[in-house]
Amino acid sequence: MDLKRISAFEKKSLEEAFCRVLESGRYILSGEVKKFEDSVSRYLDIKHCIGVSSGSDAILLALLALGIGPGDKVLCPTFTFFATAGSIARVGAQPVFADVCPRCFQLSPFEAQSRIDSYTRGIIPVHLFGQCAEMAGFKKIKEKNNIFIIEDSAQAFGASLGNKKAGAVGDVGCFSFFPTKNLAALGEAGLVVTASDEIARTIRALRVHGSFKVKYSHELIGGNFRMDELQAAFLDVRLNAVDKLIEERTKNAQYYEQAFLSSGLAIPCPDPCLCQADQRWEMNNLEKDGCYPLYLPQTVRGRHSFNQYVIRVKKDRDKLRAYLNDQGIQTEIYYPLPLHLQPCFSSLGYQKGDFPIAEKLSQEVLALPIFPGILEEELERVVKGVCQFFGRSF
Ligand SMILES: *Cc1c(COP(=O)(O)O)cnc(C)c1O
Repeated sequence: MDLKRISAFEKKSLEEAFCRVLESGRYILSGEVKKFEDSVSRYLDIKHCIGVSSGSDAILLALLALGIGPGDKVLCPTFTFFATAGSIARVGAQPVFADVCPRCFQLSPFEAQSRIDSYTRGIIPVHLFGQCAEMAGFKKIKEKNNIFIIEDSAQAFGASLGNKKAGAVGDVGCFSFFPTKNLAALGEAGLVVTASDEIARTIRALRVHGSFKVKYSHELIGGNFRMDELQAAFLDVRLNAVDKLIEERTKNAQYYEQAFLSSGLAIPCPDPCLCQADQRWEMNNLEKDGCYPLYLPQTVRGRHSFNQYVIRVKKDRDKLRAYLNDQGIQTEIYYPLPLHLQPCFSSLGYQKGDFPIAEKLSQEVLALPIFPGILEEELERVVKGVCQFFGRSF
């Protein structure tokens, strides 16, 4: 991903934003953060948006504001970025992992429901790679068990489900503006969103060491979780173009799909989503279109925001990756080790084999370059490289 490929217009707007903040002399939680919070609130169509220090801190704050801590359990996918589960552990609660759908990569409600017990206070579905999780299923689980839903929308800014934006569906939504995300800061930043006045008020207090109104009076123990004024000013500029950038990502995804289908490396998936299915069945059927070396990502619900274009390579993924790397084509593996097998969670007692889908995916997934600004001839080079590796022409 080449982060320097931005338009002259965008560069000028960012420089203007920088100069405005520089000359204002107000660098902490001032007008720029407020302005961005208002703009993003309109974009996401949700009442409260609270700018914070990072996406990881956004999840931490959501859990703290919901009163989740020691003795509580929170469910999340084992196949996600570390911060999802790390934040649960950081508030003293216990992460409980569940397996994901082998097709759409999202936390499976079918897998999640059987892991809920009387200690479970919440679920964190992750809208992985930019596509929404199967939220209707989680809403049913929420109502049946009276638990919270926190959406980890770090990779899904701009994705949507029906008439709602990702992040605005559950009790609290968390976003990251890390430079590789769809809406990108020039450093660290994050956002918490909620429709609840009460939760929003608590998060605003926790952002400044738990002080609600009176300076130096602390009702809660929070931290310094403030969004930077400069980052807020940059983000407000970039928000204007975010839909255009997502369209570009989507076009790049379509290019790959067309190319890989016509090269015969893959076929459209017969059952693109198995979120509600018993996946042991799926494990027995994984190879039913076995003569094709790739599975392509499919849009199964809502608007996919394509933060990543992740294919499954059924055999020799690492060899393909090395082959592409030798041609100057960078790829990435999200994620090489599921969270239930991370050394820091060994005390939770999970074993290899507990989550077969996630473990299989970690051996097969490969993210291809999809960033806005990539040239068509570069996309073509990627496809050619993959085709050559498998001995196909393109
Ligand atoms: C990026 C990311 C985060 C963390 O965001 P930071 O801003 O890097 O702290 C959390 N969850 C997921 C799924 C992410 O991709």
